[in-house]
Amino acid sequence: MRLARIIKLIGGLYTIQDLKSGELLDAVASGKLRFVRVDEYSPFNVSVSRRTKKEPQTVQISPKVGDIVRYDDEDDNNPIQEVFERKNELFRPDIANIDQILLMFSAVLPDLSYILLDRFLVIMEQANIKPIIIISKIDLINEEEHNELERNIMYYKKIGYDVHLVNNLDAETLEDLEDVFKDKVTAVAGQTGVGKSTLLNSLRPDLELRTQEPSKALGRGKHTTRHTELFLYKGGLVADTPGFSKLSFGKITETELKEYFIEFGQYSLGCKFKNRCYHINEPDCNVKNNDEILESRRNNYQLFYNEIKDKKEIY
Ligand code: ZN
Repeated sequence: MRLARIIKLIGGLYTIQDLKSGELLDAVASGKLRFVRVDEYSPFNVSVSRRTKKEPQTVQISPKVGDIVRYDDEDDNNPIQEVFERKNELFRPDIANIDQILLMFSAVLPDLSYILLDRFLVIMEQANIKPIIIISKIDLINEEEHNELERNIMYYKKIGYDVHLVNNLDAETLEDLEDVFKDKVTAVAGQTGVGKSTLLNSLRPDLELRTQEPSKALGRGKHTTRHTELFLYKGGLVADTPGFSKLSFGKITETELKEYFIEFGQYSLGCKFKNRCYHINEPDCNVKNNDEILESRRNNYQLFYNEIKDKKEIY
C-alpha cells in the first residue's frame, strides 16, 4: 500500500503521482470505494459530513483530482483503496486539496469587475483556499485609470490579499510569478481574454508534462476535452480549471456572508449589535456607511446578501 495524489481523471481512468517516488501511474477506483457509510463524525469532507449531520448514511465517494489516496501497488491496475479527508474542495471545477488559487483579471478588455473579484473572494474564503489576485494588461490603461486601480488594489493589499499587477505575461513577469508556484498546488482561474491561456502556455515549455496521446477509444483529442488536470511545475502542481463560468455561492447563507468579507469583522466591533449586526438595516452600523471600507466592497456585500436571500425565498 502506498500513497499518491490524483492528478488526472478522464473517463474513469486515473493518473496518480506516488507521493514518495514522484512516479506517474495509471490507476482505477477499487469497488470498495464506491459506497462508504458515514455519520457526523466521519472525517471525510465537509459536504459529506454536513449532509449526514442528522442520520448516518451510505454515500458514494468519488475520488477527484487533487485527492490524496492509498493505492495497492501489488496489483497491476493500482486500485485506489481509500480517499483521505480533503482540506478543501471545489465542485465546479471538481478539484480537492489546493493550496491557492490564482484569480486572473485584466484591467481592460474585459474591464476589471469588482463584483466578479469580490464574488470569487467570498467563494474562496468559504472554501478555505488562499486567493492570489493577478491583474493583467495594466499597460493598456491611462494614467487616471491607473491611479484609480492602484488605490483600489492598495485596499485589497491592506486587508491582506496578495495582488500582482502585470503588463504582458512575458518571460520576466513569469519569472516573478515562478516563486508563487513553487512547491504549491495552484489552480488558475479567469475569464476569457485575461491572459489565462497565455500564462498556462508560457508555463508549458517548462512543465514536466507527460506526453499524452489523444485517446483513440474516446475519439477525441486532448485539446477538446474539458477536464481538470494537475501539471507538475517547479516542484508544485498547477491546475488549469475549466468551468468557473457559473460562480455560484452554493451553500453560503446570507447570515454567514459577512465572515467572507474578511475586513468587516474588526469594524463590526463598532456596530451597535456587534457581531450580530448584518450591516443591512440595523441602526448604528459601523460597516454600512464606513468610508474606511472600499465603497464597492460595501455595495457588493449588499448585492450578494440580497442575491442569496432572494434565491432562498424562491424555493
Ligand atoms: Zn453593522
